[in-house]
Amino acid sequence: MNVKYPYRFINWAQNESCLAAQFFQPESVSEIQSIIAKADKVRIVGSGHSWSSICLSDHTLINFDRFNQVLELDKEKKKVRVQPGIKLWQLNEYLDKQGFALTNLGSISKQSVAGAISTGTHGSGKNYQILGSQAEQMSIIKADGTLQVIHKGLDRELFDLCLVNLGALGIISELTFNIVPAFRLQETVELLDFNLALEQMETLLQNTDHFKMWWFPHTDKMILYKHNRTMEPANDSRFRQWFMDEFISVYAYRLFLKVGTLHRDWRKTINRLLLQNFIKPINRIEKSYKVFNVPEPPLHREMEWSFDVKEAVAFLSAYKNRMNNSAHRFNFLQEIRFTKADSYALSPCYGRDSVWVGCYNADNYGWKELMQDFEDLATKFNGRPHWGKEFAVNADYLKAQYPDFDKFCALRAAWDPSGKFENDFIRKIFGAMQPN
Ligand SMILES: Cc1cc2nc3c(=O)[nH]c(=O)nc-3n(C[C@H](O)[C@H](O)[C@H](O)COP(=O)(O)OP(=O)(O)OC[C@H]3O[C@@H](n4cnc5c(N)ncnc54)[C@H](O)[C@@H]3O)c2cc1C
Repeated sequence: MNVKYPYRFINWAQNESCLAAQFFQPESVSEIQSIIAKADKVRIVGSGHSWSSICLSDHTLINFDRFNQVLELDKEKKKVRVQPGIKLWQLNEYLDKQGFALTNLGSISKQSVAGAISTGTHGSGKNYQILGSQAEQMSIIKADGTLQVIHKGLDRELFDLCLVNLGALGIISELTFNIVPAFRLQETVELLDFNLALEQMETLLQNTDHFKMWWFPHTDKMILYKHNRTMEPANDSRFRQWFMDEFISVYAYRLFLKVGTLHRDWRKTINRLLLQNFIKPINRIEKSYKVFNVPEPPLHREMEWSFDVKEAVAFLSAYKNRMNNSAHRFNFLQEIRFTKADSYALSPCYGRDSVWVGCYNADNYGWKELMQDFEDLATKFNGRPHWGKEFAVNADYLKAQYPDFDKFCALRAAWDPSGKFENDFIRKIFGAMQPN
């Protein structure tokens, strides 16, 4: 087991950091149990890809980069059993070599599998729930060191409470995912007027397996991404991949961001320039995980809230109106995705087919005001924030948004009565547990 005293943790976005008194990278269940037995307070960090302060700890921080193996692949039953620290990209590549895939992914695959499911990470598609819905079984080590195995089919109620857990119930030590035969996606990208995109949204959603949209504020255009499953062979060219996914999306975009920091008002023009000159129609076929994932974005700040999909048009119209007429200056796309309703207690898609609206900006200046403005609107539409992204709404608001909030709190009280797995983030949402 790798151990460090103390350890400075900084998240991917570099907006949160902490100095943990001790840092462990265990390699077995017994090592995890021994850490839990000795530590008063424990938090876990997967890949540190959350913007929220969810991972921070002054006490004990655990990471599973050395507990990251594939344990079993059952090709007949189409299931894969893994340790919690495996990154999604490692799992994608392993499965692909074996002729399998995860059925849905988000925009990147740098996250650990346990970290991704713990915050309700999602992709896009009207028939697809959050990524964790692909899990069928999970093992959690509780504060008293006992190991609880929870099977979705056998103990649905408990599974629903545990899937999106914010690291507050214990340590996930193993996960089993349902998988599908490897598949390809046809990606078409096109531009449409913002209002037309909203008018056609319902049809686009119905006709596309995985549909999402990007909007550059200060413009009237929407970029539509349609991903459909296909049996046709891959046809993506290496030149396109290098030119669009590296040269334009990584290097040229970062240069535009730099220029936009010289004068914030230039961002309006830059966004229009980017749209007119660099966003070109695309029609390509590639392996699924290569199409789901986008090139590594530059450092930026993120909020993302889910809303009842029935509110999509009303919210997006109000959002565009508010942001385009505000003093905020955006240099980053805003993302609109869709997920199917589920029954996981703390899933932002609990009980409703959802539209997600991501408010992103590569700028710390004015971010607090932007958050206030966004949340002021989002709360009016009964939005629910992504647990891994930034939000400031209070616990009363969150509690009112989640019908099974109290059931989750009761489970937390039963499994972690001394608050071993709490930090300031968890206390702010659920309150502090009383010490024994
Ligand atoms: C560039 C970028 C792109 C992103 N794209 C998307 C996207 O497309 N869709 C989306 O929904 N989100 C997206 N996110 C957010 C990200 O998926 C979530 O924040 C996710 O939780 C991060 O995973 P992680 O492994 O880094 O977990 P961390 O941020 O390290 O941890 C998150 C939580 O998981 C808990 N945890 C980790 N391991 C365990 C374990 N073994 N047992 C119990 N709890 C555990 C931690 O304690 C913490 O509470 C993106 C983030 C970035 C930086």
